[in-house]
Amino acid sequence: MTRPKNIAILGSTGSIGCSALDVVRAVEGLNVVGLSGHSQIDLLAAQADEFKPDWVVGTDPNKAGTFPDCSQKSWDFHAGDESLGKLASGSDIDIVLAAIVGIAGLPSAWSAIDAGKTLALANKETMVVAGQQLARRATETGAQILPVDSEHSAIFQAMQAGNANEVSRIILTASGGPFRDFTTEQMKTVTVEQALDHPTWNMGKKNSIDSATMMNKALEIIEARWLFDIPASKIEVVVHPQSIIHSIVEFTDGSSIAQLSPPDMKLPIQYAFTWPQRVPGPSPKLDLTSAVTMELLPPDFERFPALELGFEVARFGGTAGAVMNAANESAVEAFLNNEISFDDIATACRQIVEQHNFDPNPTLDDLFAADAWARQEMSRWMFA
Ligand code: NDP
Ligand code: MG
Repeated sequence: MTRPKNIAILGSTGSIGCSALDVVRAVEGLNVVGLSGHSQIDLLAAQADEFKPDWVVGTDPNKAGTFPDCSQKSWDFHAGDESLGKLASGSDIDIVLAAIVGIAGLPSAWSAIDAGKTLALANKETMVVAGQQLARRATETGAQILPVDSEHSAIFQAMQAGNANEVSRIILTASGGPFRDFTTEQMKTVTVEQALDHPTWNMGKKNSIDSATMMNKALEIIEARWLFDIPASKIEVVVHPQSIIHSIVEFTDGSSIAQLSPPDMKLPIQYAFTWPQRVPGPSPKLDLTSAVTMELLPPDFERFPALELGFEVARFGGTAGAVMNAANESAVEAFLNNEISFDDIATACRQIVEQHNFDPNPTLDDLFAADAWARQEMSRWMFA
């Protein structure tokens, strides 16, 4: 690397954000110039002390006032969502890591694309809601979207083995989550604690519940559809409980190229930061000195109905992604608060997607309106 890359980490206090800071600690030539957090103000302040960025943003209006006095520090603290957009589009920034969870991350990701930045995208919900619009805007501004989601990073890496028009299939791998072997009956009574206990990945709460319902894979099908401009008919899902093969790209000649590594998000984060180069980093390597089992199994669409919904929404495009995502965000929150059961999540999401007033060509404002409508519908669904 020639000069250090200036990086803004949006959502630095989360699981991806903390892994990203581990990468910065270990890899030369990466310079943190901006950080943002929401409710974990103490952690955000500690990160600012260690990394000394220019800008620190706190977005939770109830917590921003508790940020320690930084008048004697080298950085400025800014409160509110608007500051997030300014941080994401700052002239000194090379790479914006979008690691905020949910649609809350969309406006700042949009600001980064609008300003022609390289967007390292962990926040899959952004692509699910507005993938078509973001991809179009990136073409106009010259912005680059580099996937951080492990499956999409794997696909991006595998795609470099051929040309885009030579891809015949994308095969997304899925761990199957903690309920891979549960019966439909068992899934009716699962608890929040069980759903948060993922067998192979250590993630934020929302992503963990999404993995348990396999809504995570539904979101990733839609994410892949827009990131790689590939129709839903060319996307498949295979269950791979060991989470070592992160996804597979099949080319027209029948060659399938996969990316393998132990399940650790530091590697896809680092790849987005250092791309197109590869450098040594903190991620563990595969240990092949003892036997390693790698299973690939077909998914069960009946026990995990979210999957079929993901394929349908990827085919529809338009407002369908915004509605599915908002219904799911509300449903996950309700499940975490013990207001609905685990198997209600996918059922409610399907009903709300089917009821919505579909717009095939929405603006960004239309997408936010569809999001608000779906959240209201979810409240109605819960109390119906
Ligand atoms: P976490 O819940 O661990 O972290 C979320 C981050 O977003 C935190 O920094 C949080 O701040 C911040 N945040 C929460 N709400 C808001 C808001 N309303 N406005 C601004 N910031 C907010 O999530 P993860 O790190 O697990 O996931 C982040 C994104 O990456 C998600 O979109 C997820 O799907 C995706 N992803 C995650 C993977 C993982 O392994 N964790 C793998 C692949 C993708 P605070 O904590 O201070 O409240
Ligand atoms: Mg993933």
